[in-house]
Amino acid sequence: MTTYTAPGTQGSVMDYRSRYDHFIGGEYVAPAKGGYFQNPTPVTGQTFTEVARGTSDDVERAIDAAWGAAPTWGRASYEERSGVLLAIADRMERNLEKLAVAESWENGKPVRECLAADIPLAIDHFRYFAGALRGQEGGISQIDQNTVAYHFQEPLGVVGQIIPWNFPILMATWKLAPALAAGNAVVLKPAEQTPASIHVLLETIADLLPTGVLNVVNGFGVEVGKPLASNPRINKVAFTGETTTGRLILQYASENIIPATVELGGKSPNIFFDDVAASRDAFYDKALEGFTMFALNQGEVCTCPSRALIQSGVYEDFLAEGVERTKSIKQGNPLDTETQLGAQASNDQLEKILSYIDIGKQEGAKILTGGERVEMEGDLAGGYYVQPTVFAGHNKQRIFQEEIFGPVVSVASFDDYDDAMKIANDTLYGLGAGVWSRDGNTAYRAGRDIQAGRVWVNNYHSYPAHAAFGGYKQSGIGRENHKMMLDHYQQTKNLLVSY
Ligand code: NAD
Repeated sequence: MTTYTAPGTQGSVMDYRSRYDHFIGGEYVAPAKGGYFQNPTPVTGQTFTEVARGTSDDVERAIDAAWGAAPTWGRASYEERSGVLLAIADRMERNLEKLAVAESWENGKPVRECLAADIPLAIDHFRYFAGALRGQEGGISQIDQNTVAYHFQEPLGVVGQIIPWNFPILMATWKLAPALAAGNAVVLKPAEQTPASIHVLLETIADLLPTGVLNVVNGFGVEVGKPLASNPRINKVAFTGETTTGRLILQYASENIIPATVELGGKSPNIFFDDVAASRDAFYDKALEGFTMFALNQGEVCTCPSRALIQSGVYEDFLAEGVERTKSIKQGNPLDTETQLGAQASNDQLEKILSYIDIGKQEGAKILTGGERVEMEGDLAGGYYVQPTVFAGHNKQRIFQEEIFGPVVSVASFDDYDDAMKIANDTLYGLGAGVWSRDGNTAYRAGRDIQAGRVWVNNYHSYPAHAAFGGYKQSGIGRENHKMMLDHYQQTKNLLVSY
């Protein structure tokens, strides 16, 4: 076991600046008029840095810088752009520990996940799009003896990207890698809860990109996100966040008739068929582990399997074991490599989770474990910790229908396949889902019948760069990951030439 030293104290692999400005045109730039806001760590509740509070003036400056860089970057050869992305990936790999500790400290997530998943996935994302871009080369076709059609995938120009706080570096990477590969210049707005992680990433990679290609404006949604997303000088907006904010983003984009990708909320079902318990073997164990995935990243995952549906034949036993497994989740200091459950990302988020636990109780759902705030001791006493919580209830309750975004699962039973599909699809959302069955036909059918953009079958929470990810229904429009993303950040030019 390793416990990483807190950033800013002697011996830490990571030290934050005491102040983060905007990053515009290759330089750190003070806010035009917004001042600075305090940034606390959820691990202890203490402020560790202050961050520039952007306004529309800063957004305009960043868009100017991006337009200064976009034409040259957009015309760079695929080989050159691909080379830059590969260099970014290598640099991140050399700084893996630093990036992981930075994110863990700012977001409260366990450093073991940052080391094993978040940052390696982010690195692979840059490598994947470096390769996918090279795969686009070619594309000339003959129309007739004298005429040739050339197809060019041209960049859109300048894109605005707005990200949430739950996976700061990975969410930035999901947007940056394809946009940059495709030849766009970017203005990125981090979430106000986790801007410093993005600046640590910038310090690691920004010098590898031409000046002005990547710009970051810090600040709040209405003050920075809105003037960015509604700006007539951007050519696309890519957003990840809440469904209510996504609705606004689509309105802004429609004013300027630009494409918008919106990756929004979820209320994902995780379905366990009777046959999971046919034998107490490795498969059964994996399914139990799948049940506890609601607590991964403190439940602050858009695809959190927050509704567990268990078939009636195994409901009692499987649930009892799932509850025991939940109790064994090790909660503690996120910087300790054995910690599995860290701190919620902010006090607001902690309060929201506790309020939903109250709602669940008032609705008559039964708490099987958890349900309380966790008061830590020593340095962690001011941090934002809550117990992993299992409710038993029914799908009409608010805790089954509304996104809690915490380590809370609501469990219900179902009788047969049709019943399972009915409950699973009885939601406004359609982002992720899990299906657990030893029977290939059942698993395949359920995978096709569930209205969600990503269905994990006999696994959960893996996010390879080449697997398309995105929502059905009110979980969003568009996709991320997969080489199709290059198309989303490009426009097709056809040149039809007679010789
Ligand atoms: P949020 O919508 O409150 O904020 C997201 C970002 O939008 C932040 O940077 C915020 O400052 C900005 N913003 C807020 N109001 C804005 C406005 N009017 N105009 C422009 N920008 C604005 O979401 P959050 O609380 O940061 O993130 C949690 C949500 O994100 C959850 O609903 C979760 O499901 C969702 N999420 C979805 C995915 C996905 O891929 N579908 C991934 C991660 C998180």
